[in-house]
Amino acid sequence: MKRIDERDTMFARMNYKEGTPQYDEYYNRNKDKKEIDDKIRKKPHICGEGTAMYHPVNAPIADANFKFLNDIKHLSEGTVNSNKVEVNDEEMTNRIKGLTTHYGAKLVGIAKMEEHYFYSHRGRHDEVYGQEVKIKHPYGIVFAVEMDKQMINRSPQISEVIETSKAYVDAAIIGMQIAYFIRELGYSARNHMDANYLVVAPLVAREAGIGDIGRNGILITKEYGSRIRLGVVTTDIDLTPDKRVDFGLQEFCRRCSRCVRTCPGKAIPSGEPLEINGIKRWQIKQEDCYNMWRSIGTDCGICICSCPFSQGIDKDKIDKIKDSQNEIDKILEEYDEKYGIRPYIKEPPQWL
Ligand code: SF4
Ligand code: SF4
Repeated sequence: MKRIDERDTMFARMNYKEGTPQYDEYYNRNKDKKEIDDKIRKKPHICGEGTAMYHPVNAPIADANFKFLNDIKHLSEGTVNSNKVEVNDEEMTNRIKGLTTHYGAKLVGIAKMEEHYFYSHRGRHDEVYGQEVKIKHPYGIVFAVEMDKQMINRSPQISEVIETSKAYVDAAIIGMQIAYFIRELGYSARNHMDANYLVVAPLVAREAGIGDIGRNGILITKEYGSRIRLGVVTTDIDLTPDKRVDFGLQEFCRRCSRCVRTCPGKAIPSGEPLEINGIKRWQIKQEDCYNMWRSIGTDCGICICSCPFSQGIDKDKIDKIKDSQNEIDKILEEYDEKYGIRPYIKEPPQWL
């Protein structure tokens, strides 16, 4: 399987400034992307003045979270204690899962890392642009933090980006605590957090059985849908990996398409999944999605709240969807009766 190059992701591409070596190198290789990227780059930034949802006091709440993340990202790697403590893989797996949950994660799993879960090259920051990603850790501890349902159901208002940025901070801090702990035991560990990933987090999460990737292109869990943010710590400490889980999401997405009809950027594909890079999956049009973010001024989130799994489906019903298309149709009928087109809370929280 081909590894994804971080330089091709929208967040990286938006950082290439005209006249810089990164800009020249990237668009010499990718002439087809230059026009659309130049157009999007001219728009105000997320949380910026001039976007549809801009508010001079509330937008900086999310902006502050992203600045904080940027300030702490250098702590993702650190010195390993020279005194190594001998550990047993099963006990350590249990301890790390328990600790990650204790620190605030709602779901946690262990992935046996494969090459294509790592980016091939870095792209998001000028100082590391084009650097090859070296694979040194065999395990990934991957965890999900929950985003508040009420806040996400206000998508695409400022409440949504306050919540997503808060969840990125939560995940970054939990990842730091786990990575510091493992290094303290004498093993190598790296925290992969917002704006500083070497791995493709949804692929690691799927491998660890936390969820599956849906039509909206992001991870969907049985418990919280896509109303989560992911954190990953890769390490060489011995752990016991989990297994992938197929809970029938592909068939559910085939019959559902609620996110297709609500996406304001028309970025989510209708129809069947396509074979991309060796696997059958749906791929969103990342330019159309990100272009919408830069108009709205938040990271939108409408596909998160439109997903029936994000609103909660009873466990006994989820257990039946793999074998029963009728059960899927019943869940979708109930969803439509309860929410209409999609859940939406118009008013911001009182404190906002
Ligand atoms: S975040 Fe918004 S624009 Fe992007 S895919 Fe989801 S619904 Fe569409
Ligand atoms: S809204 Fe429906 S089609 Fe879209 S990801 Fe969720 S389950 Fe799949």
